[in-house]
Amino acid sequence: MSEVRGVALVNLGCRVNRVELDHMALELERAGATLVPEREASVVIVNTCAVTGEAEAKTRKAVRRAASMPGAPLVIATGCVANLFSDELAALAPNVRVERDKSAVASLASEALGLLPSAGAPASAPSAPTPTGRTRPGIKIQDGCDNRCTYCIVWRARGAGRSMPADEVLAAVRAALGRGAHEVVLTGINLGSYRAPGADGRELGLPALLDLLLAETDVERIRLSSIEPPDVTDELCRTMARAGSRVAPFLHVCLQSGCDETLRRMARVYRTDDFRRVVETAREHLPHIALGTDLIVGFPGETDDDFGRSLDFCREMRFSKMHVFRYSRRPGTPAATMGGQVDPHVMAERGERARALAEELRLAEARRLVGEEDLVVVQYPGRGVSGGLFDVLLDPTVPVDSLVPVRLTGVRDDATLLAELL
Ligand code: SF4
Repeated sequence: MSEVRGVALVNLGCRVNRVELDHMALELERAGATLVPEREASVVIVNTCAVTGEAEAKTRKAVRRAASMPGAPLVIATGCVANLFSDELAALAPNVRVERDKSAVASLASEALGLLPSAGAPASAPSAPTPTGRTRPGIKIQDGCDNRCTYCIVWRARGAGRSMPADEVLAAVRAALGRGAHEVVLTGINLGSYRAPGADGRELGLPALLDLLLAETDVERIRLSSIEPPDVTDELCRTMARAGSRVAPFLHVCLQSGCDETLRRMARVYRTDDFRRVVETAREHLPHIALGTDLIVGFPGETDDDFGRSLDFCREMRFSKMHVFRYSRRPGTPAATMGGQVDPHVMAERGERARALAEELRLAEARRLVGEEDLVVVQYPGRGVSGGLFDVLLDPTVPVDSLVPVRLTGVRDDATLLAELL
């Protein structure tokens, strides 16, 4: 039994992982554990990511590093790499324990710390805000994926798509509000595939779930995390428009490539024309919506022309936020054995060009917003985040953790917006 009741949390990968780790933090705090830096911890929880070969390499490094910390803490590895390659992870060091069931991790850590099981925090309890996500907590309403994109292993690690029943989502949102949340972020591996029974047994999709949450709670703002293009329907956009400022004017719509031939090889279920229509629909209902996306550069077989087309398409879509990823070979996926693997130097150069475009587009979109009104979540003194996920500078005397109406008055060269209170 350990004297020190300190646990460190290490997160790799996506927002869903972050939300799951936040939930573990909450359970651990309830059990009496203290969150401490890695070097001081008796237990380190590493929430692993397998999305690319590179992510997996980072995971192994993080587990090895944690295992070699002073006092050789118990390292509990969980998450996607733990699901796919548990034996390899466990073999990294004698003090590594792999736990595939994320809902069991907090109890395992509590036990190792000599604490009682985390009473009051059942393993299936919905996500709630924690020290790492009190103001804008994420709530995981969906997990798994039924698509089979050729570069992706996440669906194998997380299994088939499944959704949290609507009444549990409602309870999770209420719990978050009870803890002072101003904005809740609905997340999932494939969020738009959300389908679950409502109170009357009828199936609800994402638009109906939004309506329910808006009608049944006082939530000030709901934000949707990343979503697949076919799920940005007319109905969803209408629902968002009806909700006004209570749904953040932002959608992160995963493009991955702006070249149809590359999309086909990726086994994505849409083409650029479909994506264009989605964006037109969104902008028709929500004229000031900000759009984010993910872009993979250097996918096997991507030629210079393909890449050029992809960038042109991104420019046409006017994304305000682009996450640019260099394709990273992920053993076990169809793309890993495709011909035409792109030279790493070419990939790096494409990555730089895509990032330069991302910055240019972000600044242009920020400039368009000057003069508009918005709601800002204040996260630090004098700094917050807008509905469209831009950093905003405002009066430093505005209390941290509040949501305030502002007018956007200017923009800096790094796309940070300036605002005055309304
Ligand atoms: S939509 Fe494609 S990339 Fe996204 S999780 Fe599913 S299989 Fe992976």
